[in-house]
Amino acid sequence: MNYLFPPAPVVSVPVLGRAERFPVHRVYCVGRNYEDHAKEMGFTGREAPFFFLKPADAIVVVDAGQTATIPYPSLTKNLHHEIELVVAIGTGGANIAAADANQHILGYAVGLDMTRRDLQGEMKKQGRPWCIGKAYDHSAPIGPITPADQVGDITQSALWVQVNGSDRQRSQVSKLIWNIGEIIEHLSAAWTLLPGDLIYTGTPEGVGAVVSGDTMTCGVDGLTGITVRVA
Ligand code: MN
Repeated sequence: MNYLFPPAPVVSVPVLGRAERFPVHRVYCVGRNYEDHAKEMGFTGREAPFFFLKPADAIVVVDAGQTATIPYPSLTKNLHHEIELVVAIGTGGANIAAADANQHILGYAVGLDMTRRDLQGEMKKQGRPWCIGKAYDHSAPIGPITPADQVGDITQSALWVQVNGSDRQRSQVSKLIWNIGEIIEHLSAAWTLLPGDLIYTGTPEGVGAVVSGDTMTCGVDGLTGITVRVA
């Protein structure tokens, strides 16, 4: 096969204990999936789950023990952090029942759904797509994937982000409105999941702005944490 120009490189994420990396196919995100975050955004927290996507090349890999630097993005004056548990799909499928979802999960990682909140808000107001607020370059930092069989009960984990050492978000995965099995059931009814898909499962309350020079330290119990600095 010849191409007019070199195809874009495959985006991939390291997997703990493995030499082989996880090649990313799609990046799905769940909106408003913690009640107190839905409320802080002006909603009730009682909606059916809904989804948006980021392009695979929005991923920024944060290696264990390293600090990744992301640029302060263009067009915004209100860049927000959203700490999220990320589910990595290892076995694809359509119409997956929640009870069978675990068989499709390769592992878990810590992620940030970085958001140009002012642009997202403007799009919401106008009933337009969120892409410009959510799916911009470098908007999806992620840490190494821990294989599911090396993680305890992820549903009992805390998740948090500190900015310059101070707590900004701190909650529990158990507070997900739609749990991981239910997310996979709903998502796989709408799209055929494939190996390489990542699912950002939603953020708890406490989202807020970061500015140039801030450092975000993020974790989910049982997983490798990430540190991301805003240039
Ligand atoms: Mn989010």
